[in-house]
Amino acid sequence: MGEHSILEIAEALQSGIPVEEITYVAGTVFKSHDIGRVYEPLILPDFEQVQTDKKAYADSFAIQYRNTDPFTARSLAESYGNRGYVIQNPPAQPLTEMEMDDVYDLPYTGQYHPMYQKDGGIPALKEIKFSLTSNRGCFGSCNFCALTFHQGRILQTRSHESILKEAVRMTEDPDFKGYIHDVGGPTADFRHPSCKKQLTKGVCQNRQCLFPSPCKNLTVDHKDYLKLLRKVRNIPKVKKVFVRSGIRFDYLMADPDKTFLNELVKYHVSGQLRVAPEHVSDEVLKYMGKPKHAVYEGFLKEYEKANARTGKQQYAVPYFMSSHPGCTMKEAVKLAEYVRDLALRQNRFRIFIRPLQLFQLVCTIQRSILLQVRRSTCLRILMKKRSREL
Ligand code: SF4
Repeated sequence: MGEHSILEIAEALQSGIPVEEITYVAGTVFKSHDIGRVYEPLILPDFEQVQTDKKAYADSFAIQYRNTDPFTARSLAESYGNRGYVIQNPPAQPLTEMEMDDVYDLPYTGQYHPMYQKDGGIPALKEIKFSLTSNRGCFGSCNFCALTFHQGRILQTRSHESILKEAVRMTEDPDFKGYIHDVGGPTADFRHPSCKKQLTKGVCQNRQCLFPSPCKNLTVDHKDYLKLLRKVRNIPKVKKVFVRSGIRFDYLMADPDKTFLNELVKYHVSGQLRVAPEHVSDEVLKYMGKPKHAVYEGFLKEYEKANARTGKQQYAVPYFMSSHPGCTMKEAVKLAEYVRDLALRQNRFRIFIRPLQLFQLVCTIQRSILLQVRRSTCLRILMKKRSREL
């Protein structure tokens, strides 16, 4: 995100550096005719080329995909012919816990801008007004999700104190009815980096932390999140604390200690737990970078047991994605039958339209391609014509 960059630009301007010379700030992009001053840039295919040549477009994406980590990314340059280059500096370093706390300690009004008053405000604000952000980033890095580009795979978290301070402030709001709707982030149950290595060397470019199975270096631990939830629900005037951000169920299943699951079920589910298995076909799940369907089935069993243990009768409501690349009529029928048997409502579906991620690329190219997206992983994807029928 942009906090480091904003500060660095402000400091440079304050010290009198002309704006056209502030081209070195991590996390920013600038225009130049001269790339000689940029340190070892990677040259992307020209803008003209990527507009017409799908292979060039794929190559450009692959380079950008491999250069999203602040520890390992290089500057990227894309030519716009005689208009010069657009140069993208490597991403800014993630915020430390103290910096995250400072950001959330700013005097936000928690209100929409007065310009929306005439339209009756912003309805979505009601959903988030009493929600707490606990983290940024996601090491799940599903192939359809653009979050890796926005926030990166390195987890950044706020301290308990910072979150509790905001929670107490919420309880003083005249509209507060005792319910905190969420304590989460891109993935609710991630509260620390996936492994120690990434704090100094960045995340692995050639592998994912949870796919196809949890990495042996992955730190699986829900203790900190558990402690945080306990503290929030013990704040005076708080009746209930819900977790509405997605729980990564394969991460939860990798944790042998089921205390978190038990307390989640007992205190933090509002009747239905929203989960995102995304599909039921292992073939499609493989393309999505999601765990096999058996992992979801295993989670459902554990969830049921936890409900039985705590005397609750709550459901898991799955979200599925149709039309994802790799999904042919066969897989679509499999999903449809699963959904029919569960008698799910239609609004639990989303059509695959995620922008700017690996599988959006496959949609765009619409033919068999060979992507060398990760350094050592060749991923051959057959984009079958039939999938377009879905
Ligand atoms: S070593 Fe494993 S857990 Fe750490 S960044 Fe790489 S894939 Fe993720």
